[in-house]
Amino acid sequence: MQREQHIEGVWLSCKTELKHILSEDIFERWIEVIEPIEITDGYLKLAVANGFYKDWLEENYLPLINQALITIGELSLKAELCVHEASLQKEESLNVPPSEPKPTKRTRLHGAKSKHNLNPAYTFDNFIIGPNNEFAHAAAAAAAKALSRTYNPLFIYGGVGLGKTHLMQAIGHAVLEKRGKTRVCYITCESFTNEYIDALQNNNVSAFRKKYRKIDLLLIDDIHFLDGKKRLQEEFFHTFNALFESHKQIVLTSDRTPSEMEGLAPRLVSRFEWGLVTELNRPDIETRTAILRKKAESMKLSLDLELLDYLALKISSNVRSLEGALIRIATFASLTKQKITQERLKELLRDLIKKEETQVIDIDLIQRTVADHFSISLSDLIGKKRSKHIVIPRQIAMHLSRTLTNQSYPAIAEKFARNHATILYAHEQIEHKSTEDNHLHDTLIKLTDQLGHS
Ligand code: ADP
Ligand code: MG
Repeated sequence: MQREQHIEGVWLSCKTELKHILSEDIFERWIEVIEPIEITDGYLKLAVANGFYKDWLEENYLPLINQALITIGELSLKAELCVHEASLQKEESLNVPPSEPKPTKRTRLHGAKSKHNLNPAYTFDNFIIGPNNEFAHAAAAAAAKALSRTYNPLFIYGGVGLGKTHLMQAIGHAVLEKRGKTRVCYITCESFTNEYIDALQNNNVSAFRKKYRKIDLLLIDDIHFLDGKKRLQEEFFHTFNALFESHKQIVLTSDRTPSEMEGLAPRLVSRFEWGLVTELNRPDIETRTAILRKKAESMKLSLDLELLDYLALKISSNVRSLEGALIRIATFASLTKQKITQERLKELLRDLIKKEETQVIDIDLIQRTVADHFSISLSDLIGKKRSKHIVIPRQIAMHLSRTLTNQSYPAIAEKFARNHATILYAHEQIEHKSTEDNHLHDTLIKLTDQLGHS
């Protein structure tokens, strides 16, 4: 009885931790379905309904569960997943559950009809062309003109906020404008994946495949989500081939090139490279200025041109930040009816501008600075030791790498020899703790300052 209470308690605290850092959907879908079984020999045994859950959780969430165990003080425990014995006998070869384990939220399989999900603002007309994107733009326009006859797949990659989603959806709009009957579907890779998993749980994979095979233009956003997810890649590969063979146009976006996706099966890399791989770069100052002018105009924001030039000079990392700055100014202007001066603008955007300036900081510097600050060695900081006086600085370094650089989770993960879920977890942990722990909060400010001034 005592023991049962203990395991229930541990699992409950662990779940509370996980709830802080996972989205509700993910939490319900993947964590709520787990049942704690026993604690033996330092292992917390967790059962799930079938092999698919087990593989998926191991691949994606086990590191997070283990981190949560450390956070709740169960330093000597490690989580281990198993398939529920009762379900084991029933399980079929493919790991497809004969009776599904009550999935919580379910995406329905819609008919493809008008469910294209396109943002009306993301058209070619609204896309400003500059040297950073002209090639990608031309490729996208060509693909839109002759679906599946030019570049298939068209693979667009680049950093955050550089216009991948916009450009991809512009193809959808252009095609629909010309031929309204074309079946266009825009979906993020994550939703695509969730839909697939639902289909799998409901023994509905054939309906899933049928739905996507009916589509003429399939836009899948943020395909880097597949990185490291072997099982999903397998399914994706088949869907991809089926579409490709029936001459459907596929457009993919990603934050890195196919060959940079480390966990990507080689045959998928080569499939992705079949068509055209094209990059979006950071816009130069002229392009930034042009974008700002156009956006200010469409927001009906009248700003002196010098101010727009100043903004273009100061904010250079990506288009989304430029937009964010304009929205902030427009909100201020409409609330206060005050004229925007350069002083006012600097004040309003101080944090954004500072963030831009600190983006030259690199992760190596952060690691060195944090290790120095806590008087631990760099190899311990990056290493595998799990004692608290190392784990916390390590998480701080991960958190700062996320907030002070514009590197993606996978890129940071590489620098720490971890997977991206670990970085995500550390980042959210520290962010959360620093709201409650003044000392931690001060340490972060001190380190940030130090990094900003070095
Ligand atoms: P990504 O998908 O690469 O992260 P988005 O496509 O979401 O970036 O772009 C971020 C924002 O910047 C969007 O509002 C988009 O309309 C805008 N944007 C990006 N590039 C351009 C461009 N060349 N011209 C006009 N707006 C752009
Ligand atoms: Mg995007």
